Amino acid sequence: MKITSISVYQVELPLEHPYRLSGGRLLFERLDSTFVRIDTDAGITGWGEGCPWGSTYLPAFPGGIRAAIGNELAPAVLGQDPRRLDVLNAAMDTALPGHGYAKSAIDVACWDILGKSTGLPVCELLGGDTGENVTVQSSIGTGTPEAMVADILRHHEMGYRVHSPKIGSDVGEDAARIRAIAAGLPEGDSVTFDANRAMLPDQAIRLMAQTADVDAYFEQPCETYEECLQVRRATTQPIILDESIVDFADLVRAHSDQACEAIGLKIGRVGGLTKARRMRDFCVQTGIRMNIEATGGTVLADTVAVHLAQATPTRFRRATWLCHEMLTDDPCDGGARNLSGFTKAPDLPGFGVEPKREALGDPVAVYS
Ligand code: MG
Repeated sequence: MKITSISVYQVELPLEHPYRLSGGRLLFERLDSTFVRIDTDAGITGWGEGCPWGSTYLPAFPGGIRAAIGNELAPAVLGQDPRRLDVLNAAMDTALPGHGYAKSAIDVACWDILGKSTGLPVCELLGGDTGENVTVQSSIGTGTPEAMVADILRHHEMGYRVHSPKIGSDVGEDAARIRAIAAGLPEGDSVTFDANRAMLPDQAIRLMAQTADVDAYFEQPCETYEECLQVRRATTQPIILDESIVDFADLVRAHSDQACEAIGLKIGRVGGLTKARRMRDFCVQTGIRMNIEATGGTVLADTVAVHLAQATPTRFRRATWLCHEMLTDDPCDGGARNLSGFTKAPDLPGFGVEPKREALGDPVAVYS
């Protein structure tokens, strides 16, 4: 089987509510996503999506995906067998070292083709469906302690058992939020306080020391890996590294330094499903828990992550976030939907999600 053409679509995704990233990064009202359709000489079509959450969240930007595909990646993969994922990724890495986020949509579309060509859901090719539901975590915006507790209780009523409240404004305010949430958290629910890199090490160390009796995870307290490591060495709570884990070497280093107990394994950020699978396997081997999720995008990007989570032993996963629930538009049919705080990978060949042609419009580029 050979790749005969690559079609690239630019899709605007308005957010239901404007979203402000921590640290003064831009206010988001819409996301710019890239859909990739790969056609083959066997008549099988695969779909992938790349959405790095604007241009301020990561060293990645939406236009970079489209430029990299057009200038470097499409020439490297046209004519390749899309089922040979390691060979295909080696070709992309030779054509363009780094830039994993730009390669992800191509890699993912080829996994869709592999699934469809074998008649199997992709989770069956990633280790096998565990048969266990995938937990979905709530995302709780920064607010007053009372408002955040109310939001958690609202999500608990909807079925959520894992919550991700956002913190990082001020040590005193954050301590009050953590105390209120710890006091109001329903029995059996679990909480991660995610700072999205907003704190300096001294702030994170003071906050975590003040709240050391609260049973909770803290996620990506500081901007850099080194700053997070400094926090880890001065505190006792479990730490999740998210933005700092970009490739396999980052993960090996974090394990060697005992820098974290869990990671955010975001498919787009680490360069696609082939590379995410390797990192998943390392985490399973070394006892690192994972939030397996998309960097951003529609139900297509979310469903890709859910297939990997579905094939990952339950005790190694924490929870998955579903970005598509924040959007006003739904340009796809099928996919992994929220079933009251949990989800499942579709039991269909490939990913089990198909973009609606009329929602995508015409491709912005076709390479053949
Ligand atoms: Mg995070």
